[in-house]
Amino acid sequence: MVALHARLRRLGWAWPTLARWTTWAKGRAPGLSAQSVQQVVRDFCDTLSATTKARNAQQAAGEEPTTRYPWKVSRYRDVPYSNQTAVVRHGMLRLPHGRGGGTLAIPLPVDRSLPGRLMEVSLAYGVVRLVCEVPDAVPQLEAPVIGVDLGVNTLLAATDGRAAVLVSGRAAKAIVRYRNKAGAALSSRIDRKMRGSKRRKKLVRAKHRMLDRSARKLKDTLHKATRAVADAFAGHRVIVGEPFNDAARKVGRSTAQQVSSASNSRLVAMLNYKLSGAVKVPEPYSSQTCPGCGCRQKCRRVYRCATCGWSAPRDAVGAVNIRSIGLYGAMRPQQPVLQRIVFVRPLRKYPATLQGAAGSPGGTPAREAACAAPV
Ligand SMILES: [Zn+2]
Repeated sequence: MVALHARLRRLGWAWPTLARWTTWAKGRAPGLSAQSVQQVVRDFCDTLSATTKARNAQQAAGEEPTTRYPWKVSRYRDVPYSNQTAVVRHGMLRLPHGRGGGTLAIPLPVDRSLPGRLMEVSLAYGVVRLVCEVPDAVPQLEAPVIGVDLGVNTLLAATDGRAAVLVSGRAAKAIVRYRNKAGAALSSRIDRKMRGSKRRKKLVRAKHRMLDRSARKLKDTLHKATRAVADAFAGHRVIVGEPFNDAARKVGRSTAQQVSSASNSRLVAMLNYKLSGAVKVPEPYSSQTCPGCGCRQKCRRVYRCATCGWSAPRDAVGAVNIRSIGLYGAMRPQQPVLQRIVFVRPLRKYPATLQGAAGSPGGTPAREAACAAPV
């Protein structure tokens, strides 16, 4: 590129654009991935524009421009990798080299972890440089903190230690159940039709339409659920309980279907931007440990400690404990009893009805009975 550009300069021809350089470079480095080649081209074009800028500045100041365009043809060059190709997996840094080029795997030091998201890697002579994005931690420390427990019947339970907002997950659950049922029915009808037939094509279209509609409905529900939390605790920092892996494996298939990890990670992403950032913490036993005295017991929908009498909806208990884990690194007893518990249904027109008070199980008796029966 350096030699070619020098010739173009000498001849006074038009300089290629970034896109033309990229097309030109395609396939010229068969041992490298396309991403790496593109990065080299981008670097070169950046150098050109920076040089032009410097020369113009010198000319404007009335001096003879001394900054030179790239002129030295180097034999070796650092190989850049974008974070789309370079990945860290199982303690190894993997640098792929495109089709047929193989992958270079470099073990990372065991005692050190990356300070942030990996952005760029460059492979130099005997050295590998990793560029990470380090989040600005300072402003977040000021924000008050809420704990959030993700669940099925209660999609989101959020608390700041005094009040709790519980968002019902029944709407989301119904959408998922409908999608799975209707999807299975349509699939079996599709299977009975001849391949390539008009009827089959129609059914396939219908299935996609149904799946699309369900996905939109689910997304809408998740947005409304997180919006309810964001409105109640605006500007708070969020600590989310990461579903316990072992517990997830133990539950049956029907439950596993409801606890969609996909919607959990979407909920976390939504909380992350609607509030002041979300952090995940492991949540083993968080909904079984008493926030008052620290004893552990299994409860149904409503948690009532047999030892100290601490009582709240079970998911709110989980949220209180997750908040403690995020704040102090472990669950801590002597947490105050929740003063206010608000139940929200995400698809209701007028959500956030205030029900229940301190110490009461929360909810109206009718709702309470409906919750406790199926568990
Ligand atoms: Zn207790």
